[in-house]
Amino acid sequence: MNKNQLEDLDFDRQHIWHPYTSMSNPLPSYHVKSASGVRIELSSGESLIDGMSSWWSVLHGYNHPLLNKALVEQSQQFSHVMFGGLTHQPAIDLCKKLVDITPKMLTKVFLSDSGSVAVEVAIKMAFQYWQSRGVTSKNRLMTVKNGYHGDTFAAMSVCDPVTGMHQIFEQVLMQNLFAPQPRCDFYQPWNESCVNELSLLFERHHQEIAAFIIEPVVQGTGGMNFYHPKYLKACRRLCDQYDVLLICDEIATGLGRTGKLFASNWADITPDIMCLGKTLTGGYLTLAATITTAHIAETISNGEAGCFMHGPTYMGNPLACAVANASIDLLISSNWQTKVNHIEQQLKTHILPLSRNQRVNSTRVLGTIGVVEVTQNVNVANIQKRFVELGVWIRPFGKLIYIMPPLIIKENEIAQLVNAIAVVLDDDACFD
Ligand SMILES: *Cc1c(COP(=O)(O)O)cnc(C)c1O
Repeated sequence: MNKNQLEDLDFDRQHIWHPYTSMSNPLPSYHVKSASGVRIELSSGESLIDGMSSWWSVLHGYNHPLLNKALVEQSQQFSHVMFGGLTHQPAIDLCKKLVDITPKMLTKVFLSDSGSVAVEVAIKMAFQYWQSRGVTSKNRLMTVKNGYHGDTFAAMSVCDPVTGMHQIFEQVLMQNLFAPQPRCDFYQPWNESCVNELSLLFERHHQEIAAFIIEPVVQGTGGMNFYHPKYLKACRRLCDQYDVLLICDEIATGLGRTGKLFASNWADITPDIMCLGKTLTGGYLTLAATITTAHIAETISNGEAGCFMHGPTYMGNPLACAVANASIDLLISSNWQTKVNHIEQQLKTHILPLSRNQRVNSTRVLGTIGVVEVTQNVNVANIQKRFVELGVWIRPFGKLIYIMPPLIIKENEIAQLVNAIAVVLDDDACFD
């Protein structure tokens, strides 16, 4: 690192917020010079194998020639125009694809700028739907514990109350209903009693519930929990039975991560509203989509307002849509399912044996997601430093060391990622 870069890192520490770390005593940040393929190059010289896909967003690797090309070509046409009264090919092409690849009933696409906003939009759609039908009692949401749906207020109100620190915002946060975390493991035989409490909550509260929101099959940031598809099927059944809308938040799971194109495909269900984000642009730009049925869109449109009450400034941003089109084309035209299955097999081979380590509570793998749950909280600063020394980029939180590499990762690179995890497991300084 040269002197300027060191000064800049100091400026960064003094003046720039980073996610979920203190502003007065922040965790260290590493200065990135470039990224290409599966590697992130630091300005300090290290070359790291990326195990995080930059928080579920990178799909085909960094600096991909086809995605770069899509971005450059679109920028030479126009980078942005307002979406009110104007439309354009990148948005039309993207929405055609989304209507095409999502379940048949989902035909109405609302584009927005980030996952949290896509969740806000989904929640607002649900409330406006019931309002338009003249149903005034459905003013709350229901979800399960240990979920994560984003950081804006409505999204935060359906995140896990404990890890989402709801007590800080108690006075201003919507008070929603929480069912127990789905405990029925993806790989264990299904047990119907797993939905007993959920069923009771539906029975008792359905008249006040506008929508039930859940991350299908994989609860991500709230604990990396892989639950049984039959649980999701039961959610669909209960929503139908009690006239509650089902929102599937596929922001982390959508577009192949779990081994199906959408995690709700595992249960063969169609939600009333689906949220997509994160890897929609292959990790290039922030873009999200909320997709719903003709019935919901028409009901809202025939209501008092005559339209849906939302319209972000950067709605349908052409650069983001163009790169999303390129990324989805690349995914669909590749043998992605085979790739995901290979990665899953390799992750299983390397990660599952770590469960013999004393410090490990459990290990699990689904699709391209591999999780090592440890018995003590990690020391983020120390474990991160060790990972960088070992040539990998893995950022654990709490008791969870997890990886979900880009689809282009090779077996020897997966072995290096998992090997680094094995090394830190034996290092006391990496745990609190
Ligand atoms: C990341 C995430 C969000 C929030 O998306 P942002 O783009 O960070 O606002 C919402 N839901 C799930 C399931 C996520 O993983």
